[in-house]
Amino acid sequence: MSVIVFFDTTLRDGAQGEGVFFSMEDKIRIAKKLDALGIDYIEGGWPGSNPKDLKFFQKIKDYRFKQAKITAFGRTRRADNPPEKDRLLQNLLATGTDVITIFGKSWDLHVWEVLRISPEKNLEIITDSISFLKSHGKEVIYDAEHFFDGYKNDPDYALQTLKAAVRGGADTVVLCDTNGGLLPLEFLEIFRRVRTEIECPLGIHTHNDSGMADAVSILAVQEGAVHVQGTFNGYGERCGNANLATLIPNFLLKLGYDSPVRANLSKLTETSRFISELTNLQHNERQPYVGGSAFAHKAGMHADAVKKNPLTLEHIVPGVVGNQRRILLSDQAGRSTILLKAGELLPNITKEDPRISKLTEDLKQLEYLGYQFEAAEGSFELLMKKAFALYGKVFSLHGFRIIVEKNEDQPSLSEATIKVSVDGIEEHTAAEGEGPVNALDSALRKALFRFFPEIKEFKLVDYKVRVLEENQGTAAKVRVLIETTDGRENWGTVGVSENIIEASWQALVDSLEYGILKRRQATCG
Ligand SMILES: [Zn+2]
Repeated sequence: MSVIVFFDTTLRDGAQGEGVFFSMEDKIRIAKKLDALGIDYIEGGWPGSNPKDLKFFQKIKDYRFKQAKITAFGRTRRADNPPEKDRLLQNLLATGTDVITIFGKSWDLHVWEVLRISPEKNLEIITDSISFLKSHGKEVIYDAEHFFDGYKNDPDYALQTLKAAVRGGADTVVLCDTNGGLLPLEFLEIFRRVRTEIECPLGIHTHNDSGMADAVSILAVQEGAVHVQGTFNGYGERCGNANLATLIPNFLLKLGYDSPVRANLSKLTETSRFISELTNLQHNERQPYVGGSAFAHKAGMHADAVKKNPLTLEHIVPGVVGNQRRILLSDQAGRSTILLKAGELLPNITKEDPRISKLTEDLKQLEYLGYQFEAAEGSFELLMKKAFALYGKVFSLHGFRIIVEKNEDQPSLSEATIKVSVDGIEEHTAAEGEGPVNALDSALRKALFRFFPEIKEFKLVDYKVRVLEENQGTAAKVRVLIETTDGRENWGTVGVSENIIEASWQALVDSLEYGILKRRQATCG
């Protein structure tokens, strides 16, 4: 098996993406997570560009990594300094990393316009910047910035810049599609020439502006590159970078390459989600391999086929990358889908059971009214429990009242009072909140707390409102989707009404009931 080297630049190039922000602590946590996955190199940042990155390198020295080598990123020296007087090269050495990645110019246009030096001077700078770092015992990865555009403009000069890097002693020369516009066959033609002229391990760094970042990276490796740079979830400037969460399983599962990640591949989905969490961006559920939809089956016939033989509709076994198969509920869902779900509650239930047809009908009716259970597994489970008489009411509502008060330009205040009972014992209480729904949520939790102290651990992680019939203005129906977590599991619940408070109430009640019943089930064994 050929070994492939994975170079992660989520913390450096990924951090250039719109909406991506990492604190220093986030960066440390992500680096540890990437190491646990078995990534070979982690590019930590650009110590010359901001003080946060410099601090990261000071801090990261305290950690022992199992697999990953941390690398600092910077550029070749300035034209007017010898390398030993160049502040940026000094900063790179000061990070204390064993590996340093520097980029240089391969495009003569950039040499004239940006650096304003002669092409010969640029070659000299590339060579002596690298040899200077090598003389300090560093492993040097050379990123040839804008290589492909440079090559298209002047192939011979672009190749000379790579040769200058090899002369300097670069350990790996990485061809960068910095503009991200490259197409696969164009790449192929250029790469095949580079391969014959450059005697140094080659790497690839692509951006996704033409949607080809992953395709080009795969092609590069199949054509002889040994080192792939990318970011998790494809984060990066503009349309992002090559996505390691996609590339890793493609290389390991489909193309037979080996990497230390192989032993930890089942952590892939978790790692990708972890990074989404810390980035504070919604996890892209449509991502190959690691998205929530990657192994989600909707239509009844498909779900039926998957149950009989997963290979009919799944390109890999989801568990291999730590993901899981999901059977979605929808009005297309036939009895077999419902049966699959119902089987989780009643393992011996059959397709012919009248409760299955009743449930199928109920589901269709509810979907017609605007309910949607694909992201509301919690509500759906309660619905099934009701249909199978496995449900006992957790509490009874006697009533609630919400007051919203606004005085002049002060922020408005919301207060909810509520009366509920559990096993005949009444509880009457009130709470304030950021808004009416928040006040109601707080009051309900407060009222139920003495009966079910475990609800303290239930946290609302997402609250979404969707207007269903947009043409009817404020009289339109809304669907509220709530996601709750107890730190171990997340569950979604749903409510639908013309009244946003009523819709929220339904979703809130399902959310607490589902959580409480789950806990009871767990304690009953
Ligand atoms: Zn880049």
